[in-house]
Amino acid sequence: MKAFEAVVHYFNRAADELALTDNMRTLLITAKREVQVQIPIEMDSGELQTFIGYRVQHDDSRGPMKGGLRYHHEVDLDEVRSLASLMTWKTAVVNIPFGGAKGGIAVNVRKLSVRERERITRKFIDGIHDIIGPDVDIPAPDMGTGPEEMAWIMNQHNKYHGFNPGVVTGKPVEYYGIPGRDEATGRGVGIMAIKTLGRLGHKAEKTRVAIQGFGNVGSHTARFMQDATCKVVAISDLSGGYYNPQGIDVSAALQHVSRNKNSLAGFSGGELISNEALLELDVEILIPAALGGVITAENADRIRAPLIIEAANSPIRPEADDLLAARGIHILPDILANAGGVTVSYFEWAQNRQYYRWNLDRVRQELDRVLTTAFEEVWELAQERQVSLRTAAFMVGIGRVGRATVLGGIT
Ligand code: NAD
Repeated sequence: MKAFEAVVHYFNRAADELALTDNMRTLLITAKREVQVQIPIEMDSGELQTFIGYRVQHDDSRGPMKGGLRYHHEVDLDEVRSLASLMTWKTAVVNIPFGGAKGGIAVNVRKLSVRERERITRKFIDGIHDIIGPDVDIPAPDMGTGPEEMAWIMNQHNKYHGFNPGVVTGKPVEYYGIPGRDEATGRGVGIMAIKTLGRLGHKAEKTRVAIQGFGNVGSHTARFMQDATCKVVAISDLSGGYYNPQGIDVSAALQHVSRNKNSLAGFSGGELISNEALLELDVEILIPAALGGVITAENADRIRAPLIIEAANSPIRPEADDLLAARGIHILPDILANAGGVTVSYFEWAQNRQYYRWNLDRVRQELDRVLTTAFEEVWELAQERQVSLRTAAFMVGIGRVGRATVLGGIT
């Protein structure tokens, strides 16, 4: 099942519960606009290279469209389309006034210099500046992008349309960003994990956690879980997994990556294991926070964690989702679990529009409020309708988008 097909599969499960008509399903699942642009740049060597960039704008019935920008060599239209759709349901589940979009460039960022990254980013904005904007579509970081790219995006867009920092979120704090945006997705994952643990009657101090991916999301999640008294026994990145049954020293791991080009390679705080083995560890919580599609029908039977928190987007394939559910494994779905990032992006956008600075305490407090409300709504609906947390989250999201679509007038 390809990425977009997988989202449609989950969508249809929830749509069945909501008794949505076929025509309404087609309307809600079809993207409003899909754009592909050519990005020719001169590399540092003087050689000409041409990349492909995508922006899929899925739905704007509840507000301007919102979604990250991914730089990864496997990016294609199908993946971007699936992620754009997930953004629509995500912003609706947490009830922030945005729709859904996503973008990406098929490129291996590790092979680019800083100047090449800047040229690609600015050239991409040259291609899409007319279809994004603070009231239309607001990009943000995702895999392979961060505050640096967001600053270039704002600067390039403003050259065409005048000063307006609200065109993009996830900017550096010193350049119209908001404190707490960098930690927001990981912090949100942690908040949700602790709430789910509580509902399942487990104690944080008796909980062992394995986290795949130690980038923006994985590293902040690890820190939050450790601060919440859980024992983080495994972390990983592209260089492999690091396992320590006594608990990884997360601060030491953070220091290691900051001194080692963002890589855990050579980290001595745990035994080296593979990324595949990490997924199958005997832990209370498994948190995939790197790529999509890592839990499949092939390895689902070997997953031992009774609770999986989807920090990454789509880390579990639908076939595996069914196998895990049949074994009673609880899954907190991506559209709820990793919504902290887009929530704080909303605060950043609001701050930019108000020209009023928020402080970190206010950001954290509001984030907690938004995520707690969303979590309670989804949990209660799942109990009431006897459906999975994923189906309940989709039901809440689809319900809100469907109502806004009808209220706005369809034809
Ligand atoms: P990132 O680029 O900062 O980090 C990705 C991490 O995954 C790195 O540690 C990298 O080494 C690791 N990784 C890459 N390939 C791997 C592999 N094959 N096996 C194991 N580890 C691998 O990205 P991020 O922003 O942390 O995003 C991670 C996931 O979270 C993505 O699925 C993204 O869509 C999702 N997400 C991110 C945000 C956000 O605010 N950054 C918000 C919502 C969802």
